[in-house]
Amino acid sequence: MHFEPSFQKRYHKALSDPAMIKAVKNGTGRLRGQRAASIEAVGPERWMAFRDRAEAIRLHVIQHLDQYLEQLVDNVLKKGGHVCLARTGEEAVQYITSLAQKKNAKSIIKSKSMVSEEIHLNHQLEKLGCEVIESDLGEYIIQLAGETPSHIIAPAMHKNRNQVADLFNAVSKKKLSTEIADLCGFAREHLREKFLGIDIGITGCNFAIADSGAITICTNEGNARIISALSPTLVTIMGMERILPSIEDLAVMLSLLARSATGQKLTVYNTLSTGVRDENELDGPQEFHLVIVDNGRSKLLGTKYEKVLNCIRCGSCLNACPVYRNIGGHAYGWVYPGPIGAVLSPLFQGIDKFGELAYATTLCGACCFACPVKIPLHDMLYALRNDKVELENKGELAENIAYKGWSATFASMSRYRFSVRMARRFQFPLVKAGKIAYGPPPISDWLKHRDMPALSDKFFHEIWPELNKDRKE
Ligand code: SF4
Repeated sequence: MHFEPSFQKRYHKALSDPAMIKAVKNGTGRLRGQRAASIEAVGPERWMAFRDRAEAIRLHVIQHLDQYLEQLVDNVLKKGGHVCLARTGEEAVQYITSLAQKKNAKSIIKSKSMVSEEIHLNHQLEKLGCEVIESDLGEYIIQLAGETPSHIIAPAMHKNRNQVADLFNAVSKKKLSTEIADLCGFAREHLREKFLGIDIGITGCNFAIADSGAITICTNEGNARIISALSPTLVTIMGMERILPSIEDLAVMLSLLARSATGQKLTVYNTLSTGVRDENELDGPQEFHLVIVDNGRSKLLGTKYEKVLNCIRCGSCLNACPVYRNIGGHAYGWVYPGPIGAVLSPLFQGIDKFGELAYATTLCGACCFACPVKIPLHDMLYALRNDKVELENKGELAENIAYKGWSATFASMSRYRFSVRMARRFQFPLVKAGKIAYGPPPISDWLKHRDMPALSDKFFHEIWPELNKDRKE
């Protein structure tokens, strides 16, 4: 999928796609509602305690990442697995493509993995002549569309059922109904066949358990479980930070992940697998490879952005974000959308390329409030704005002048009062139905999508003495 290099062009394109906006608003609205109901059921105080516990676990892991990585690697090796510690995306791709060549793999089936999107794995495997099939329903839809995910947990959130039916019709060569059950039925039937001829299975990893070497994968469709069971060779790809010390910590995280992501008490299939099958076991891989990817993560350790590594990829911050809900995921231009993407993309890909995303926020803090592991995303977005300005060694000229003027006016009570009186008196050509309706660019663009109330007849500081006078009397 080709992305415009400029964020401005990408979000303009998004804002001119009403079908996408409607689908994203419906999807995020549904997930937000389900999450709110689930928190209500737990009780807000218990929920806060859960979040505190989860944050403490993640902070502890990140602060002792070297120790837990070593323990994880030892345990995977002890259980007969192979481990690749990939410093870059290229190293990870190199390892997996060499394995595919060695196995002479023709059919590779994947479950959802954001890291594999990050390193463009499918493309490289396809170049070798492998058929790569996405088995997660949302990923399958966007694979057919030739697109990238637009949401962390619901990759095809931006598509409506008519668009999905069109994509499936092209594969089935017949006209399917647009009923969701029929569409799911087609995908199930079509994908089931593929599982039987699997050469290599590739899964993502929600959490790797350091003290046992177990890999946890959470899905609502069971596709990762089938892949783990049927693949002769299984590859799991994980970001190096996705570790938990023990299964006790997993209990906290699974409950928090499902509630934050979809409002479920638990994801339907939580699969824990410990690599290669034993002699007595009926299923499981004969060969297991764990690919642990750094790709820019370790350089965040010890920095003001370290806490972003606490992320458990639940997608809750996307659903809470007023910007994401209006522009969808593709406007962010890289793998991770929404507030977490606006932080990760510049940190992983460079502020020069993705620094503009730090402005894809109202700094309202809704993302931070929604985050189960309490990552201060809005503080990080603010810090990224500073870093961007420092990197470029300048602010926009117009912005500099505007802020200097604003600062000079608001620093003096008399100047402030004079300016608001003048603004109130001369705003009338711009006002319609109690709102500022017109303005010069860039304000005119801003007003196309937002309401700005007109200045009121009386401001608070004018009303306050009158109210006090009444009270004294
Ligand atoms: S930043 Fe928080 S809310 Fe957003 S995806 Fe990560 S864990 Fe979920």
